[in-house]
Amino acid sequence: MPNATYDLHLHTHWSYDATASVAYYFRCAQRLNLRCIAITEHHTVDSLPEVLELAPKKPEVAVIPSAELSVTTSGGAAIDMVCLGLPVTPVGELRTVLDLYHQWQCDYGASVSAGLQALGYDYSDKRRLELLETYRPRKTIDVQGITHVQNGIQRKYFVAEGFMESEDGYGPLLRRAAEHVPQPPYPAAARVIPAVQNAGGLAIIAHPTGYFARNDRRRMDALREELGFDGIECAHTSIPHDLTPVYRAYCEEHGLLSSAGSDCHADPADNPYGIAPQNALGQHIGEDVWLDELLERVNPLPNAPAT
Ligand SMILES: [Zn+2]
Repeated sequence: MPNATYDLHLHTHWSYDATASVAYYFRCAQRLNLRCIAITEHHTVDSLPEVLELAPKKPEVAVIPSAELSVTTSGGAAIDMVCLGLPVTPVGELRTVLDLYHQWQCDYGASVSAGLQALGYDYSDKRRLELLETYRPRKTIDVQGITHVQNGIQRKYFVAEGFMESEDGYGPLLRRAAEHVPQPPYPAAARVIPAVQNAGGLAIIAHPTGYFARNDRRRMDALREELGFDGIECAHTSIPHDLTPVYRAYCEEHGLLSSAGSDCHADPADNPYGIAPQNALGQHIGEDVWLDELLERVNPLPNAPAT
């Protein structure tokens, strides 16, 4: 696949399940001649201070302050939203919502620990912290606390500790744990999405193939009406190439923006945990014009020219 000229879906080690550094993306984006990137941490904007520090040193690469916020619909479904163009210093309701996500990460992690302990397994908050310390930099734990753990790493740990026979037992084990200690849902879409939009951000439904049951019009319309999203991530590592033009046509039909990103989580040259090896920076089939349209609605950091 040829490199795209931008990538609006990236995770660093400030996401609970990623290991790449902010510096890796700037370095690699410059090498690949990307004109724009968005670092979209799961549930937080905690990498923004590092982004703000590095951006002036790589003025060729524009950066849109962003996050990936997972929300719960009225029907209880979980949906990931790539939120582009967030304020560098969130205030008011958006600040409150981001604080909710910080709390959610710790509450969710604690519910997994408590559920496992209820089943008789030694997976205390302290054990979970020790596991987080094996792959997360100290600075991220200092800011985010004892969060949940990347699934692949937690799965291997459960096997190593004898909580289950093989990795196949992971889903069933977590479901049994949740029967004892309910796992908290993501914050409500009805609260999160307006907070993003009122702060000037764009809410883009991420990698929608599952949410849309490929391209079931009824599901697409229902989610568009409930969530009021501003756009669709039409190109992504997980989206079959034949669906990208279908999603783009739907955007055009409804006056929505189109976004694209790789969802890269790790530097392939330094990925000891084998996290998302198929998601590589700049690898997607999104078109240049989509970024032009997005940049009419959101601003990259001021010290980085957009074009
Ligand atoms: Zn993502």
